[in-house]
Amino acid sequence: MTDDIARSFVQLALAIDRHRPGYVDAYYGPPAWRARAAADGPRPLAELELEREALQRAIAGDLGMERQRRGHLVGQLRAMQATLAILAGETMSVVAEAETLYDISAEWVDEASFEDCRRTLDELLPGRGPLVERLAAGKAAAQVAVEPNAPALAEIVRELGRRARDRFALPRGESLEIRLTQGRPWSAYNWYLGELRSRIEINVDRPIDILRLVHLVAHEGYPGHHTDLAIKEARLVRRRGWLEHAVTLLESPVCVVAEGIATRGLDALLSRDELFAWCAAEVFPRAGLSGLDPRREHAIEAACQKLLGVRDNAALLRHVERAADHDVMAYLRHHGLCTEQAAAQALRFIDSARSYVFTYRQGGALVDALLAAEPAPACWFARLLEEPVTPSQLRAWIRDRSQGAAPDRGAAHRGAAR
Ligand SMILES: [Zn+2]
Repeated sequence: MTDDIARSFVQLALAIDRHRPGYVDAYYGPPAWRARAAADGPRPLAELELEREALQRAIAGDLGMERQRRGHLVGQLRAMQATLAILAGETMSVVAEAETLYDISAEWVDEASFEDCRRTLDELLPGRGPLVERLAAGKAAAQVAVEPNAPALAEIVRELGRRARDRFALPRGESLEIRLTQGRPWSAYNWYLGELRSRIEINVDRPIDILRLVHLVAHEGYPGHHTDLAIKEARLVRRRGWLEHAVTLLESPVCVVAEGIATRGLDALLSRDELFAWCAAEVFPRAGLSGLDPRREHAIEAACQKLLGVRDNAALLRHVERAADHDVMAYLRHHGLCTEQAAAQALRFIDSARSYVFTYRQGGALVDALLAAEPAPACWFARLLEEPVTPSQLRAWIRDRSQGAAPDRGAAHRGAAR
């Protein structure tokens, strides 16, 4: 019965994708199912909603389904209901979208935190002229030429991959390739191809500084999206037969946890001192940037990361206050220290991604809260990679651990041992 539910869930997702191309972000189930969805064309939305309701009832009636699997499917079906309602013409605020699609609340971030970042950057980037220009000049001095075979990029992929394989349950045979692209609203994207393979695209519209490149590879590849999906393919789909994981959806609460894993991944692989030593000895020289101080570059990058909330606020201004292009870009430039070009790219992302914008900061905050206390943060991170989790489930883990519960270390260690 559970196999039927998984099959129906995947087929329903493929049918929704006919209405909203890109809804299915990755699919590696039976090719015949996708071919059938393509042959059927867009089916009536009311029919799809009836199928979704039937699936929800079937899950409620499947008493043998494992609890975590059930929670994951119920969360996905709730988001699916909202997607179908939006496709049927229902208007939903971006705040309601964040709640129903992603299981998070879209909140205004206190601008005082941005001022703290500005002060930090002001100290790190002394000199005359506006801070936004000093920051752009600092990043230009650390700029790296990005090409698929560039020595620095190859070293970053090699070392982060080695560490991810060493620490987590990355299956044998996984691989990724890197391609360059242009004219996209994002800075990089991981396309999961199935069979444990990913293609990572890096957008070279704007210059990339060397430490940003390290973060991009960690986010998209090791131990971020590629690692997350390859481990789930091996453990959930191949080993346990949980076929619902053969499809990943762009409008799903799972995205929040995936972005949390990706944004915090680098810290899960290297301590600060290990990062500094590796950058100084291996990464920076390969980029012709031996003179850079990794500690200073890291401090600049960390301060910029804390400005992520500026984009959340800009999304609320755009979608709730209906702010004009000029006003949103002015906000991004002032609080986020964006150049004109970066602000324009951020605006395109805000317009295309809508409530997805909030998944990064909120996912990162959830992962931080989970890993904040001892014991065994590495075991908790491994669990995130190995198990299907929604933000609600993650909040329950955080509640449990604040009450003294230990992680299922057996599960994580079995994974680490491969
Ligand atoms: Zn991501």
